[in-house]
Amino acid sequence: MSNETIVVIGAGVIGLTTALHIQQHLSKNQSLLVIARDLPQHTSIDYASPWAGAHYRPIPGTSAQLKKEANQARRTYEDFKTLAEDPEAGIKFIEGIEHLEAPPADYLDTEAVKIAYGHLDNFRILDKAELPTGVKWGVKYKTYVVNSPVYCAYLLRKIIFNGGKAREYTLKSLEEAFTLEHNVKTVVNCSGMGFGDSKSFVIRGQTCLVKNPCDLTLTRQKSDGSWSFCIPRPLNGGTVIGGTKQINDWDPNPSMETRNKVLDNAAKWFPFPSGSKREFDVVRDIVGRRPARDGGMRVEAEKMDGGRVLVHAYGAGGRGFELSRGVAEDVGVLMFENGVLRESASL
Ligand SMILES: Cc1cc2nc3c(=O)[nH]c(=O)nc-3n(C[C@H](O)[C@H](O)[C@H](O)COP(=O)(O)OP(=O)(O)OC[C@H]3O[C@@H](n4cnc5c(N)ncnc54)[C@H](O)[C@@H]3O)c2cc1C
Repeated sequence: MSNETIVVIGAGVIGLTTALHIQQHLSKNQSLLVIARDLPQHTSIDYASPWAGAHYRPIPGTSAQLKKEANQARRTYEDFKTLAEDPEAGIKFIEGIEHLEAPPADYLDTEAVKIAYGHLDNFRILDKAELPTGVKWGVKYKTYVVNSPVYCAYLLRKIIFNGGKAREYTLKSLEEAFTLEHNVKTVVNCSGMGFGDSKSFVIRGQTCLVKNPCDLTLTRQKSDGSWSFCIPRPLNGGTVIGGTKQINDWDPNPSMETRNKVLDNAAKWFPFPSGSKREFDVVRDIVGRRPARDGGMRVEAEKMDGGRVLVHAYGAGGRGFELSRGVAEDVGVLMFENGVLRESASL
């Protein structure tokens, strides 16, 4: 059998996690190539992963989509427990707290909360007496925070050490990906936004990275529905304070008004050590575009002519890190079902 190359498009957290996962299930005659316009050493507003906070905050809900995401998030949480044992990964488990001033209905639905939060270590709903003024609903649990640029570089390094290849290249089309090596039958599309998918859209996020350390991640939802959060980055990466979620906003420039607002909120609500109150040591403003998709992420396989297979995994929106391992496993299953991977163990 002649050698076959499996191409993964994208070196964001979805592409890299997927590449690393499927690499563990390749036959001897298969090899792996990651093709990306942006690799972890690059920064670009359209390369979302290095801009992410990133922490894990479950989203309760009983829709099919949210249930599916809860399942992917649960598998990622378990996987990150093992990954966090390697300090080079840039993942750390710490206390997570949520304070909601006006909890949406799903937060008050016991079943929805159980689906999303039930698997978390040390999870509990806070008593009224524990809630700060103005907060109506709160929870506490053990969660993880990720130094996102460090983690992406770590994943790529592992792929290369395992014999995979990575190439910086901007594809004009998905079809082109099948032509980059002499025998490509399978392409995995982890391009964030897809190629011209009319359901894809961006959610602009502006945050502020400060040097000030913080030892937990706290999220506060205000009564107007906006969210504030602090996310310490492991390995002395400072703390990300946020943030905005602006649908279809393409402005690449940070707004000073937003910076002042998120820092004011952080000084009011977040547990920075005394002395650092509102004296934030700003490293930089961050503006990124979350690659979102109407109806949620597209994770599906398409059979092409000539026995070729195209697997899609894009549109993670604001949850790429949280869902990454679950998505990678689901892609592995699709590849197995389509005869691309012959080994099903632990897929
Ligand atoms: C401010 C902010 C905060 C966030 N916080 C969190 C958080 O706390 N938790 C969380 O889970 N998520 C968070 N996110 C969301 C998270 O960053 C995204 O969900 C995730 O990065 C999406 O990963 P991805 O691999 O799908 O896309 P990307 O990281 O955007 O990667 C896409 C890849 O595809 C490549 N590509 C695209 N088009 C082409 C082409 N034509 N040819 C070749 N290569 C191509 C790109 O170069 C890139 O390598 C946050 C995002 C932002 C902006």
